Parts: sequence; C-alpha cells; structure tokens
Amino acid sequence: RKFVYDFTEGNKDLKDLLGGKGANLAEMTNLGLPVPPGFTITTEACKVYLETGAEPPALRDEVSAHLSALEATMGKKLGQADDPLLVSVRSGAKFSMPGMMDTVLNIGLSDASVAGLTQQSGDERFAWDSYRRLIQMFGKTVLGVDGDLFEEAIEEAKQAKGVTVDIDLDAGDLRRIVERFKGIVREETGRSFPQDPREQMDLAVCAVFDSWNTDRAKLYRRQERIPGDLGTAVNVCSMVFGNLGPDSGTGVAFTRDPASGQQGVYGDYLQNAQGEDVVAGIRNTVPLADLEQLDKKSYDQLMEIMETLETHYKDLCDIEFTIERGQLWMLQTRVGKRTAGAAFRIATQLVDQGLIDEAEALQRVNGAQLAQLMFPRFDETAASEQLGRGIAASPGAAVGKAVFDSYTAVKWSRSGEKVILIRRETNPDDLNGMIAAEGILTSRGGKTSHAAVVARGMGKTCVCGAEELEVDTKKRCLTAKSPDGKGRVVVEEGDVISIDGSNGKVYLGEVPVVPSPVVEYFEGRMHAGAEDADDLVKAVHRIMAYADRVRRLRVRANADNAEDAARARRFGAQGIGLCRTEHMFLGERRELVERLILADTDEERDASLNALLPLQKADFVELFEAMDGLPVTVRLLDPPLHEFLPDITELSVRVALAEARKDSNENDLRLLQAVHKLHEQNPMLGLRGVRLGLVIPGLFAMQVRAIAEAAAERRTANGDPRAEIMIPLVGTVQELEFVREEAERVIAEVEAAAGADLKLTIGTMIELPRAALTAGQIAEAAEFFSFGTNDLTQTVWGFSRDDVEASFFTAYLEKGIFGVSPFETIDRDGVGSLVRNAVEAGRATRPDIKLGVCGEHGGDPESVHFFHEVGLDYVSCSPFRIPVARLEAGRAAA
Ligand code: PEP
Ligand code: MG
Repeated sequence: RKFVYDFTEGNKDLKDLLGGKGANLAEMTNLGLPVPPGFTITTEACKVYLETGAEPPALRDEVSAHLSALEATMGKKLGQADDPLLVSVRSGAKFSMPGMMDTVLNIGLSDASVAGLTQQSGDERFAWDSYRRLIQMFGKTVLGVDGDLFEEAIEEAKQAKGVTVDIDLDAGDLRRIVERFKGIVREETGRSFPQDPREQMDLAVCAVFDSWNTDRAKLYRRQERIPGDLGTAVNVCSMVFGNLGPDSGTGVAFTRDPASGQQGVYGDYLQNAQGEDVVAGIRNTVPLADLEQLDKKSYDQLMEIMETLETHYKDLCDIEFTIERGQLWMLQTRVGKRTAGAAFRIATQLVDQGLIDEAEALQRVNGAQLAQLMFPRFDETAASEQLGRGIAASPGAAVGKAVFDSYTAVKWSRSGEKVILIRRETNPDDLNGMIAAEGILTSRGGKTSHAAVVARGMGKTCVCGAEELEVDTKKRCLTAKSPDGKGRVVVEEGDVISIDGSNGKVYLGEVPVVPSPVVEYFEGRMHAGAEDADDLVKAVHRIMAYADRVRRLRVRANADNAEDAARARRFGAQGIGLCRTEHMFLGERRELVERLILADTDEERDASLNALLPLQKADFVELFEAMDGLPVTVRLLDPPLHEFLPDITELSVRVALAEARKDSNENDLRLLQAVHKLHEQNPMLGLRGVRLGLVIPGLFAMQVRAIAEAAAERRTANGDPRAEIMIPLVGTVQELEFVREEAERVIAEVEAAAGADLKLTIGTMIELPRAALTAGQIAEAAEFFSFGTNDLTQTVWGFSRDDVEASFFTAYLEKGIFGVSPFETIDRDGVGSLVRNAVEAGRATRPDIKLGVCGEHGGDPESVHFFHEVGLDYVSCSPFRIPVARLEAGRAAA
C-alpha cells in the first residue's frame, strides 16, 4: 500500500484516501494553479495508526522520500539553519469538520533556523513571531500543554511593556517570549521543545491522527452523521507567509454568493496577516473587491483562477489564499456550502451556462433543502431585536408567549394561547408541553439532544443549545445580553418571543411571519412564468420539472378528506395511497361508533351501521371527486376500538363518583363494561385491522358498500372514480380471503343495482413481518400491496411506535446505535430486506401486482431512494411532503 501522495499525484476524486483538502490541493496542482508544493499522508495510514497505536512501518521511509523530493523542489531542507524550509501539518478528512481537528504551522523552526528565517525574510520580528507561534501551537496541540499558559505569558509581556496589542511587541520581546514558552513546555511536559525538525513533523502528524478521536470530533461526527471509522488524512505543505508586510496578506473567496447564488466577487481579505489572524478577528478584514486597489496583479490572477475553478468543478467553490510579497498562493478550495435557496438557483444557473445537464442539476439539490424552503419564515425586512442564537434543530418560524414548564404550556395552549416552551434542556416529562407549544427553545444540548430529536419527529420548530441565554425555570425567566452587549434583557413568563428553527435565531417580541414563496407556488398562488416571479420560484419550478420528467416512482398522498386531497393534487399527487377511514369516525360520529361497539343485538348493530353508511358514502364521494381520474386507496377500519371510547381511568372515576352520589347512569355503566372488555395491555398488537373486520359482523361490509356506492354515484355523475380497497394488518392469506369474499359479494350487489362495472380492486397492507415473509401466498388474494412501514418497523424491531421516540431513542441516537430513528428513515438492513423480499415474492406470484408504500417513510428523502431501488410503483406521503418525494424520486432515477 502507498501511504503518501505528492500533490502532483492525487486528484479530486480521491477524497476517501486523501481527504477533501488533500484531494483538492492535488486537483489544483494538476490544473497548474499556484499551490505551495507538498504531500498528503493517506487516511489509510491514519486508520492503521488508530487501530494499532503506531504508524505503519512503511510510513517513515515513504515520508522521507517525499520530503526529500519536496526539499529538492524548494531548494532547501526542512529546518535548514541558514534558509529553512518550513511546512504546515494540517488535518483533512473526507468530510469537512471545521475546527474539530488539529493544525500546526511553521514546522522546521528551531533555535538554529530562526536566524536563517530572519536572514531570508529580512525581518527579525517576523522570524521570532513565527517561532513563537510554532511553540505555542505545537505545545498546545501536540504536547497537550494548557493553551492559557501561553496566552498569559504574552499578556504579561505586554503589561510589562505597557502595550495592549501584539503588534507593539518587537523582535526582542518576542525572543524573550520564545524563551518563556520553551520554559513552559519544559515545566509542563518534563521535556524540551524538540529542536529536530523531522521530529517536530512526525509528532505533529501523529497529533493530527490522534485528533480524529477527540471528544469534540466524535460528538461532531455523531451530530453530522459522519462515520467514525474514516480517519483523517494529513497534509504537509510548504509554508507561505501572508504576514511579511503590506504586500502580503490572506483571504477567503467564493466564486458565487453562497446565500443567493449570484455570480460576483465575494470574500474578505486581510493585509499583512496569516489565516489564524482572520479567525481571531484581531483586525477587520476588507471586502475582497478592495484587493484590486491593493494588489491589482494578484487580484486579476485570483479572478482568473476563480473562473478556472468554477468551470472545472462546475460548481460554487470556496477558496483560501495567501499573498506572499506579491505572489498569490492557493491554500485550499472545495465545493462550497450554500443555503437551500442558493442551491436551487445555482443548479439552474449552471444549466443555463451549459456547465451541467439537467440530471446533474438534480444531484445538486435535495429534498431536505426543498423542505426547508417550504417552511413559513420570518419577514426579514421587519425590525426585530435578536436575543441570541442557538442550534437550528428543527426548522420553522414560531411565535408565542414564553413558558418555562410543560404544565403551563399545556394549560395556556388549551385556553387558546400560542406558547414557546423554554427549558434548559427537555426530558420525556416535557412531552405534553412540547406537543402543546408552537416551538421549543433550550439553552443546552446539540442536534441530538432530546428536544431536537423529539421536535424534529413532531415537525415542531426547535432551537436548542442557545448557551448565551440563561434559563431559570424556578424564577420563570430567561436572561440575555442586550444588543449593545452592555445590559441585560429579561424575558419573563408571558412575554412574547420568536424563534427561527432554520437558523437558530431567537428574537424578543413578535416577528411577522410570511408564507414561503415556494409553497405559494405549489399552491398555485404564484406562477413561475410570471414576470415578477421570485428567482427562487423559477428555479424550483425548473428543477421539479426535471424531476418529474425522469422519475419512475409515482407519488401519491396520504389524505382522508377532500381538502387535503385537493391540496395534494395541487402539490402534484398522482392519487391517494392511503385514506385512513378511522379519521372519518371522529367528532360527532364517534357516538355512532360507540353505539356500534355497545350493540347487544343484531338489530342494534345494524341500526348503527346503517346510520354510518350514508356518512361514509358521502365522504368517499367527495374524495373520489377531488381525485377524479386518479387512484384512491381506501383502507378499511384499522385502530383498536377502545380509541373510540372514553379513557378507562376517567370513566371509572366518573362512574365511581356517580355511584357514591347514587345517581349512576345506565349508559355509563354499559360503557364501562365495554371499555373493560376492550382494554388491552398491548393494543397495537391486539384487536385491530383485519381482525376487527373478522369479529365485528357487518363493519367491513358497510365500508365496502359505502365505497362501491360512492363509486357508482360518481360514475352516474360522469366522474372517473378509481377506488382501491385496502385491508390493514393482514398476517396470513386466509384473513384476506375471508374479507375478500365478503367484499366481492357486496360489490357484486352494488354493481348489479348500478348496472356498471366499478373496477374496484382489493389489496392489502404489508405491515406485519409474517405478511412480508409470506407475501408470495398473500399475493394470491391481493391485487396490490402497500407497505405499512410504520407498523412494520414497530413489529420488526419490537419498538412501540408511540412511545420509544420520547423514551430511549435519545440515548440510542447519542450512543450512535442508529444515526436516525428507524421510524424516520427506513432501516434498509432489517425492515428494508423484508420489503425487498416481499416485492420479489409478490411479483413472482402476480407479475402485474401494484406495489407502493404508505408509511411515513414514503416522504423521507433517503427512504424514497430505497423504494426506487427495490422497484416499487409509488410512494405515498402527507400532502406537504409530496414535492420532496417527487424531487427525491427524480434524483433517484436521474
Ligand atoms: C403503517 O403502518 O405504516 C401505516 C401506514 O398505517 P398506520 O400508520 O395507519 O398504522
Ligand atoms: Mg399500520
């Protein structure tokens, strides 16, 4: 194995091996751009080091060979006393982990070579300052010395001299600081600062390897879902200096505006400085455009390079550069991060420029970005006072009165108030409050904290880890710094605040909310073709058109009323994949269901079924009308019946109190009996789904009749109803056969009466492991399968879908047992493999079987790709996620 690559040997596609930085330095080198020469030690070497605790034996010789070549190129040796070659040693993993890992600059300086650097640079102060920086960085990151000790020593020197800024320390001061620093290293580590340049370099390389596994790096990876076993590459690069005088400097640049996508000159420049000075914010940077006045030659060259990079990478690039005495050097480039809106704009701009085609444009955006663009947002033009900023944990714009406990959140929201629940951190006891609140704000915890995980699961706006805000739940208040930084602002219970879950900002008072232009577009209230249409809307329109053109998966909606169906259709739904009929039995109709459950005699039961029939039929007529010409999958009743009855505890108390008062009511007593009879320890595994149809006579027949009669009525009205009847929770083909037989009888009756072939199909959900395992048999009796991945996930994992997210999932996510809840993204290995096998078995039995999915996963970007891969015909999801599913289905096919 080869562990070291010269910059001339790599290329941008070797990110796995060379890390992002190394691969792109190599790419730039090979493009002929001015990159300081150097080499990259591979992630493979890092992996060996992390596994065995030692560098791979071959590494030392390979590094020696590459160092010699570098020295030959540069015409000087590492740390050479009269003219030292100096190098930087920088980490660079496959995925960028900003600030998480180590870097050491100025390797090669020593007591001997500092004189050589003075000579060569003609600047004694610069040489000593560089040496000072090396000992400080090396001491801290390689030798583990507390960085504050160095900072304090500098402070002392400044105080002793009576100055306040580093610049006022002269060469003599810095030389004394170097002596002091060497003393600190000796005192703290029991050894001297290494004078051998090669030893410096080798130790720095190992320190970079080690930094892969620091706590903060591990935490960052968990949050960003970066695998823990990739390792980092190490880049050894000859040093160039931006701090050699006014004709030197350092800067960052973007080839386009990462916020809007606009082409132009974007970036910052700092004269006479090194990269860390920019980060440290010691002096103010100037806009990149000002470089034209300062150094026209370098500016022009940089513009040319930016153009080269854009054309080469065919994407927005961000760049770090340094100018050393009028000579421009490229230190880094990569395809730059951008906002969701810019991603759509840039993708279409690049198509217009002929740099990428439509298929590639689809890969430049994703469903998560589209979802972000669909949230309502705060009106940016409104004046608002920002209190602070936390982590953008779950997007959305929420406004409400501050409350500091769950109880108040629930109480106030019941009385119609909008509230924001503010906690230091949340725990499962806060669940009710979180449900009641418009949004959640915490001062502790990251993207996988309880608040963040639960809020995302509920689709609720959440800002977490806003550490600059002090939350006092006892005093029920939150304290922030005032905008001028001098005073304090106190938010008390009942004060209105606004939180933005897309950028983590927290505001005092009510910030006006405006609807997303992208939703206005999907709703048909804004036309992409209109003269004044938003750029963003035009870009989204084009990308959606590309996606629709190439996707193979159809996209349906989970909808159970005409209003949702109509919206779904506007959003591009090609039918309904799941109409949950239980939603039609709520409200006033609950009483009819209650009577059905309490019925003692056939007459009583028939009476309540007959009362429900016209109501059900009317529902379906509306739904078929809204989806005219498109398939509508109606699922027969699924949930356990106790859901339609009063809560067992409440009812027991009511009956007991009534008995004590001696005025018990006959109906309540009957009800209580029924509640006890239907009470189940584990209702999700109890009397529900097809089991209801088999034990409650007439229930499914009534529903089938309502569907068939509604279809007949729509036909008479010249409509084109395309109903599909779906049986839930089937575990064996026998269950399905019973229901099917009854349904076919009812349909035949209705068809005879209507004199029409209603073309109704009958199929089943595959949502139990046994159904998936025997899908070949089940397909004998099913014209379609719809995978119910919610219940399938629940039963395959043995996770109660209603409880786990609020109980132990946070711990699982924090431990990295899974990166994302299996209820959110399909578990490919477990649940997914059952789906895959059932697809094959179903098609083997019935080649033209129609296959879809209607669990929550149908609208999840990653899962949509999986469903495309296994060859489903459609995914079905909630109306708001339809555009996301269309886009991802297009991306999967492109
Ligand atoms: C499912 O189980 O995936 C499903 C869609 O049905 P429900 O969520 O209604 O149980
Ligand atoms: Mg289900």
